[in-house]
Amino acid sequence: MRLIFLGPPGVGKGTQAQKLSAQLRIPKISTGDILREAVSKKTALGLDARSFMESGKLVPDEVVIGIIRERMIEADCRKGFILDGFPRTEPQARALALMLNRDRPGLDRVLNFELSETELVRRLSGRRSCPNCQAVYHVELNPSRNPDRCDRCDGKLIQRSDDHPETIRKRLEVYQAQTLPLIRFYEGQGVLTRIDGSGSPDGVYQRVMSAVGKLP
Ligand code: AMP
Repeated sequence: MRLIFLGPPGVGKGTQAQKLSAQLRIPKISTGDILREAVSKKTALGLDARSFMESGKLVPDEVVIGIIRERMIEADCRKGFILDGFPRTEPQARALALMLNRDRPGLDRVLNFELSETELVRRLSGRRSCPNCQAVYHVELNPSRNPDRCDRCDGKLIQRSDDHPETIRKRLEVYQAQTLPLIRFYEGQGVLTRIDGSGSPDGVYQRVMSAVGKLP
């Protein structure tokens, strides 16, 4: 199954992608995670990407398209994948279509997660994550047992450098300008399903399951 999870930052698509990836046993591919790892390891990619990420801007298309092109040829993608945070611009979506349409009709479904801006800001500003295992928490909505430590691996939780108020505003603006048009793009292809992203992660997951379960 080939899926894209689309939606603004903070909508919870990463959390949902992680759950579905475990259930369907297909990889979750997050360009944000790949880039953050490159930044923390100070690779050439990380050094290039860092300033874009810290200011809430998008990393250039050719860089992220290159990341996805390399990742998709790995063996674990043969059974399918969930793309989380890619594509984010029309050129990325067109490049992806070219990569996928080579063998068979490209995508099974694009799930577009929706949530009010007030709630997005609330979720982003309280988000804490584990740099070690990528688990995600929220100080009020989904706290870890020990406030500073990951429940899964005991790693020290951090607030992402782009989850601060100024950068959050910038990321939401960038989303409106560059990623929102993708909803039309995929709607035009008849593959888009809208998912209400409000409420508990389990409640949202039920909606995800019923959207994915309807696939042939
Ligand atoms: P995310 O974890 O998906 O919110 O991504 C964090 C940051 O990584 C974004 O604000 C961008 O700077 C960068 N990034 C992740 N995915 C992409 C993408 N598909 N295109 C451009 N930049 C990206």
